Amino acid sequence: MYKRTVLIVDDKEINRKILARMLQDKYGLLFAENGKVALECMHEHADVIAAVLLDVMMPVMNGYEVLEEMRQDEVLSKIPVIATSQRDCDEDELKILEMGAQDFIAKPYKAELIIRRLNNIIKLREKAAMVNKAQKDELTGLYNKQFFLHKVQELLEENSHQKYDLLCVGIERFKLVNDTFGVYYGDKVLKYMAAMMKDIAREVGICGRFGADNFYAVLPYKEYTNESFEPWIRRVENFPIEMDIKIHCGIYAIEDASIPVEAMCDRAQLAADKNRGKYDEYFCVYDDSLRKKLLHEQFIIGNMKPALEEHQFQVYYQPKYDLNTGRVAGAEALVRWIHPEMGMISPGDFIPLFETNGFISQLDEYVWECACRDIRSWRDKGYPPIAISVNVSRADIYNPKLIDNLLALIEKYDIPMKYLHLEITESAYTENPQQIIRVVGRLRELGFLIEMDDFGSGYSSLNMLAEMPVDVLKLDMGFIQTETRKASGKGILSFVISLAKWLNLAVVAEGVEQKEQIDVLRSMDCNYAQGYYYSKPLEKSAFEELIRVSEVAEMICTSRTTLDYTINEKNNEALQDGRVMMIVDDIEVNRAALAATFEKEYVIKEFENGKDAWLYLQENASKVDIILLDLLMPVMDGFQLLEKIRTNHQTRQTPVIVMSQMDETMEQRALKMGADDFVSKPYNALVIKKRVSNVVASYELRKIKHGLVSIHLGKSRREEK
Ligand code: C2E
Ligand code: CA
Ligand code: CA
Repeated sequence: MYKRTVLIVDDKEINRKILARMLQDKYGLLFAENGKVALECMHEHADVIAAVLLDVMMPVMNGYEVLEEMRQDEVLSKIPVIATSQRDCDEDELKILEMGAQDFIAKPYKAELIIRRLNNIIKLREKAAMVNKAQKDELTGLYNKQFFLHKVQELLEENSHQKYDLLCVGIERFKLVNDTFGVYYGDKVLKYMAAMMKDIAREVGICGRFGADNFYAVLPYKEYTNESFEPWIRRVENFPIEMDIKIHCGIYAIEDASIPVEAMCDRAQLAADKNRGKYDEYFCVYDDSLRKKLLHEQFIIGNMKPALEEHQFQVYYQPKYDLNTGRVAGAEALVRWIHPEMGMISPGDFIPLFETNGFISQLDEYVWECACRDIRSWRDKGYPPIAISVNVSRADIYNPKLIDNLLALIEKYDIPMKYLHLEITESAYTENPQQIIRVVGRLRELGFLIEMDDFGSGYSSLNMLAEMPVDVLKLDMGFIQTETRKASGKGILSFVISLAKWLNLAVVAEGVEQKEQIDVLRSMDCNYAQGYYYSKPLEKSAFEELIRVSEVAEMICTSRTTLDYTINEKNNEALQDGRVMMIVDDIEVNRAALAATFEKEYVIKEFENGKDAWLYLQENASKVDIILLDLLMPVMDGFQLLEKIRTNHQTRQTPVIVMSQMDETMEQRALKMGADDFVSKPYNALVIKKRVSNVVASYELRKIKHGLVSIHLGKSRREEK
């Protein structure tokens, strides 16, 4: 049981002994024989002392003087004191209570009474601390939202002549920090930030956290520049983690103290949001343009419902073209808001808002219905059948009626399912993969074609691609535009395209604007393209005219004729087939961590030096899928082993990832010697997982290219080849 600590202050040893005997079972005890020693002891143990039993009459420094000193001290004043005295007289009692003692006990001591009193005051104080805690954010000790708002209100009322700034700070992609490094690290980052916020706010002393990574502070009013923020930005960057932590900052200058503090915080936050992703501007100040944006948003939200009822939303169609034949092979339905006074409002202005307020689901259903109705009418008019893809938002996925609603549309308009493609954005896939796999997998089984939208725009992972139920990969416009521009990027682009093909996905490139991009994409064997080069999104009548006069090609999705294949299956197969990962590192904990990371996917073989690893590899070369190799080891180091691996004809192709402390020259040397990739220590599990799967995937692609279809792709798959 946890024992609270009580300090016994009495000049007579006998009294101390009596008290000790009474209390030692219930409390941990400290002793002092006079006031001076008592104060020293309190300073030293302030954090553990739960209460003090203080004799009033003592030499050197008496109880009154001790109480007086305690009262002056911020920390000691919070420790409860029970005074003890020879006399039992009202006057003394009153005086001692006035001076700050919580209670009073007369000698001779009665054990029960002392224990009860001690217990009471300790409980009381702990409860007070609890109340205090409710004002503070548990994790960081900063004020919570309610208390922060209250404190700012108080400050503004009491200092109406003073001017202040309200600062809002957020951590860039904080969710990613949590996902990548775990909640423990996430919390560490938050605490680190909180300590910094306290320093930033030290002049006024008011700072708070409103959940997650939302920090606020009150600063004295002044003109801020990038230099004012420089030290804080640097301090954040110095957080010891293998990821650049960035923050975004917003300032609202409190000019009108009459608006609610919460609205002030919203404004500071709005400014902070605007500062997101702008790494050379360290902060953003709330101003009128942001106010206008807010008003515009209010306008949109206020008008969305009538707009839907009055059919102000219209569906445009942007054709997709077959890159080889130049024929139209499909189209994407894109919504437009044609407002009677404002004219056309672009989806960029309202979709994100509707995604946050939930209205997107209604709008999406409206768009789907328009698309289905149009597909029906084109069929009735005898136009060649064409697949139309509609956007499905993340919110739709969580709608339990999604499947029924879509099926009802298919039935109502009597259209074959394969002509309705569903575009689901990549970011939805990363968010809750299990849910997505379930819902989208079901839709796909039912016969809808699934397109993964915006691939390459976020944290795309190639493993994810293999795991997800999709038929078509839509490469994001930004990805296409940056990767086709740079010479080195083309490697990535062509790799992604070949991997997609390996997984039997059709590939659509989005946002293609130039002839050169078309040529590059065609040379990489990309199938389809959508973009201004071919056509902008067209009004329904214009699109109808296009398909009326064009030769329309069907979009071919080979995914439907081959068996589905997921990384998990592959992993299990790898494990079943006894595929081996070799971990070569002289430090045991490193090996253990790596083994734990990969044990579900590979048979793990650990080696503490290059020599043992080489002996094993010579015997088992055909079983080994991947080698993780530490560069610095005794007996035979990583470089020596790598050289052997790359010069032996049996192991020449075996993927090797080298690991070492951050060191560019070593990295370069190893890559030159034929290592497939490099991870620096201390490594991060996610990074190394990605590297391994990328390296292994590209190895498998190489094998396929060379006609060496790997023997562990699984039986069903093999038989199909
Ligand atoms: P998205 O699904 O990635 O759609 C592609 C966007 O790129 C469209 O913008 C399209 O007009 C634009 N675009 C196409 N080719 C080019 C090009 O060559 N160059 C450039 N610069 N842009 C090109 P739009 O129509 O403004 O739509 C923006 C986003 O709004 C869409 O991105 C989609 O996420 C969302 N959206 C549009 N309609 C709907 C809808 O009905 N439902 C849902 N949930 N979202 C929609
Ligand atoms: Ca789309
Ligand atoms: Ca897209």
